[in-house]
Amino acid sequence: MRQLWMSAIVAGALSFGAATAADSDLAWLQRSSIFHSGLRQAHTIALTFDDGPNKNTGPVLDVLKAHNVKATFFVVGEVAATHHNMLARISNEGSLIANHSATHPLLTGLYDNDPEKLIHQLRMVHDEIAPYMKPGDKFYFRAPYGYWRSAHAAILNADPVLRDYIGPIYWDIGGQISMRDGYIMSSTDWDCWRHKWSAQTCAKGYLREIRRSDGGVVLMHSLYAKSAELADTVIEAMQEEGYRFVRLDEVPEYRQYETPQTAPAVAQLSSPQMVLVRNEDVK
Ligand SMILES: [Zn+2]
Repeated sequence: MRQLWMSAIVAGALSFGAATAADSDLAWLQRSSIFHSGLRQAHTIALTFDDGPNKNTGPVLDVLKAHNVKATFFVVGEVAATHHNMLARISNEGSLIANHSATHPLLTGLYDNDPEKLIHQLRMVHDEIAPYMKPGDKFYFRAPYGYWRSAHAAILNADPVLRDYIGPIYWDIGGQISMRDGYIMSSTDWDCWRHKWSAQTCAKGYLREIRRSDGGVVLMHSLYAKSAELADTVIEAMQEEGYRFVRLDEVPEYRQYETPQTAPAVAQLSSPQMVLVRNEDVK
């Protein structure tokens, strides 16, 4: 059940002896998206499928299974709500479920003054996906549209569940279509489909961008009729070229952003100090 929260401005310094400077700098949700994955030049690919799952995610999972590839699915709560069977499949077949907000809004400054609304965007999804995650699975977050504000990190890190999230995770590959001399140099799937390109044409952009960077975190979506064929084409070519496929929790670079289990309950926050407390704790 969703808990009610309210914000309180707490005057004066908050001190939590267990936190070190390094912890508070590196752990927690970050003040800006994490752009550096460490997978470039590593001949390693982390496929990420955003905005689902829906009925078109099933064929994508079939493709992953056929190639013995594990990926990460950043799900949107209101989409996943009617496809819990897909959440179960993602988990059962060894891929990782991650959080991409409840309704995929642009998390603008409007949320700065409405912490409960912001927290709901992540907690709603968390409550939905948590039952399908395996013991020990880590929680990752990607901001809708990759848009992130530092003020939001402070608000979310005060939540006892969301503080354990790693992110926001950005991507290396798949952000946009680019062309040079008539060649597709990079692709992003939703825009390929908008241009009515085939999966084979769209894949060329992904493959060229992956080869140029020799690996990275790849952004795709598992929502569309051609999603499975695109994934199949990219995976097949990359496996032939010896690329390794990993889930985000196999990316060593991200380990530094994990919140230590010994960390205090609430992060030290910069002034003005905003702390989120349960309604029942408010006298
Ligand atoms: Zn998205």
